Amino acid sequence: MIDIKSKYLGGMIGSALGDAIGELAFHHPEKDKLYIHLAQLKQFRYTDDTAMSIGLAESIIEKGCLDQQDLGNTFRSNFLSESWRGYASGPPTIFSMVEQLGITYAEAARTLFGGVGSFGNGAAMRIVPVGLFFHDSPDLYEMAHMSAAVTHAHPVGIDGAAVQAKAIALAVKLDPREAFPREVFIDTLIGFADTPEMKEKMVLVQELIKANTTPSFAAEQLGQTVAVHESMPFALFSFLRHPKSFEDCLFCAILHGGDRDTLGAMACAISGAYVGIKAIPESWIEKLENRSYIEDLAVRLSEITPAS
Ligand SMILES: [Mg+2]
Repeated sequence: MIDIKSKYLGGMIGSALGDAIGELAFHHPEKDKLYIHLAQLKQFRYTDDTAMSIGLAESIIEKGCLDQQDLGNTFRSNFLSESWRGYASGPPTIFSMVEQLGITYAEAARTLFGGVGSFGNGAAMRIVPVGLFFHDSPDLYEMAHMSAAVTHAHPVGIDGAAVQAKAIALAVKLDPREAFPREVFIDTLIGFADTPEMKEKMVLVQELIKANTTPSFAAEQLGQTVAVHESMPFALFSFLRHPKSFEDCLFCAILHGGDRDTLGAMACAISGAYVGIKAIPESWIEKLENRSYIEDLAVRLSEITPAS
């Protein structure tokens, strides 16, 4: 039987570690030096990716469902108490507009980038609680859409978050003691993607994995910006390349340039949800900032189910 609690813990803690260690890789981009640095550090500090995942988990647990206004309020209050976590300019702009104009978060999000909304990876980087909580729900796409739209109005920004949520949901349901069904996994994501941008990149990930290309070549082909259709596919590539090893998946995601903390958060959300908490190095878990609070959220999330 699959240990669901271990998978929720793996997804939440895994994503936070990927974020924290990915952020360190900006300063230590070589594996050997990063290893030494990780051994020396007393604490791994996470960034906005995990701060917003925490907010999503808090709001889902509080409401028992996805409530856009409560989610926006939770993101906002967490931002106000920890604005130093490396947030991009989008969220604080939206929070001010909601406060000053009395509009909803989704309405404010639609005004960004000249009225087209953001297609950055900010909705995908935080989505692990949605992928976990709705892993068996037929409404997964809609729930991912709702959670994304609080800050990301562009169809690609929403679709990237939904595909990331689906990858996490698939990972939860797979038994890591069995052979990893790579073909079925990527085929499912190709079918799940709604925009041509995400579909094309999922097909490209499939080709790169089949051809067994180097991660550097894959990163170059997929793109290395903060756009979700460039970063999420490389995070997925890292997982598909190393489905059985959390560590190898993490290093693949964060040591090839790009948006390292978010690549780590996304790749390790999928990996942790697949391999489970026991397959994540204990020495890393012990050093994760706010570890017990994140564990508590994961366990509470695993104990409730979405209303059908
Ligand atoms: Mg970050």
